[in-house]
Amino acid sequence: MNDTILVVGAGPCGLSAAHAAATAGKRVVLVEKEQVLGGAPILSGYARLVPSGEWAKDAIGRMVKRVEDDPAVTIRKGSKVTKLEGEAGDFTATLSNGEPVQAGAIILGTGFTHFDSINKPEWGFGTFEDVVTTTQVEQMIGAGKVYCPSDGRVPERVCILLCVGSRDRQIGREWCSKICCTVSTNLAMEIKELSPKTDVYIYYMDIRTFGLYEDKFYWRSQEEFRTKFVKARIAEVTRGADGRLLVKGEDTLVKRPIVIPFDLVVHAIGMDPNTDNPEIAKVFGIELEKHGFIARNEHYTGSFATNRPGVYAGGSALGPEDIDTSISHGLAMAMRAIGDLNALARKAA
Ligand SMILES: Cc1cc2nc3c(=O)[nH]c(=O)nc-3n(C[C@H](O)[C@H](O)[C@H](O)COP(=O)(O)OP(=O)(O)OC[C@H]3O[C@@H](n4cnc5c(N)ncnc54)[C@H](O)[C@@H]3O)c2cc1C
Ligand code: SF4
Repeated sequence: MNDTILVVGAGPCGLSAAHAAATAGKRVVLVEKEQVLGGAPILSGYARLVPSGEWAKDAIGRMVKRVEDDPAVTIRKGSKVTKLEGEAGDFTATLSNGEPVQAGAIILGTGFTHFDSINKPEWGFGTFEDVVTTTQVEQMIGAGKVYCPSDGRVPERVCILLCVGSRDRQIGREWCSKICCTVSTNLAMEIKELSPKTDVYIYYMDIRTFGLYEDKFYWRSQEEFRTKFVKARIAEVTRGADGRLLVKGEDTLVKRPIVIPFDLVVHAIGMDPNTDNPEIAKVFGIELEKHGFIARNEHYTGSFATNRPGVYAGGSALGPEDIDTSISHGLAMAMRAIGDLNALARKAA
């Protein structure tokens, strides 16, 4: 029996699992493929997080520091698991540098991949410099200025297109990415704070600022920050004779065609399955669900279990999730792994 816990992925979910397991007295090995810890909020340079309003570098930075400072956690950056042998209570994982790690349980917090807007070419990304993604705008806000990449000017009119790479059967993305409505309403307010004269429009199919986010983000962005919401089906983004971008589509409330000029068009990109998932499935011997996220086993008494005993998965590796939920999954997985290891130890005694 080995009661070390191997955590793969150092985003909000994996960091939370590593800290929880270490606090409960376990040794933890945390493996992250990048050279930087913190997952998408740090790697993609998010600005202020919803719902807390805290800067990502501070909030997630605290999670990173608490794990880095914990002597019970051994961190292996720039590494992946390339082979897993053994069974629950007695695994041997081989890392990409050839190092073996012995562990009793494996926690996967391997997260998601941002949708690549190149896969939605009719909406102008990759063709026009001033068509950008929400992650690019997050980085601009972090740097203190929202601008048009083509010439650096402050945009007079910005539009955010929702559901880019989500809820789109034509390109095989049948899921709702859950957080992008709220993130976009928040970005609209942040743009307005930095540049009060800029008009911000949000084009939507439905608004899904779920739970307590409805008044804090959706209503506030309209009532206090004058964000304009247009229910529309977008056909294409082109360039007009004056060089401005033209967003063309149909206003689905009044059922009329619309062609509106903008300086900056923002794609609210969704959450795709981690592009590593086929490799992760093979190495760890686990199943993926039909969209390519990691498959859950039984939901209620076996939460976070995969089909392989002793291997658990949570956070956005299971499907689009927000940070709060991913952190909760990390905590819960540590609890489940420790409980299952204790049960194995009792059985062996
Ligand atoms: C534009 C945008 C803005 C967002 N803003 C917010 C927000 O303000 N508030 C909020 O609550 N949520 C927000 N989200 C959602 C948020 O990004 C996720 O909830 C969160 O990142 C999920 O954490 P995670 O740990 O599950 O995954 P990730 O953050 O994706 O972390 C996974 C980690 O695993 C590593 N990894 C992946 N594969 C491997 C492998 N094979 N081996 C080793 N390591 C691996 C990755 O490098 C990464 O470090 C936003 C999402 C988008 C798209
Ligand atoms: S959260 Fe909003 S923008 Fe994101 S996929 Fe769902 S409906 Fe579309």
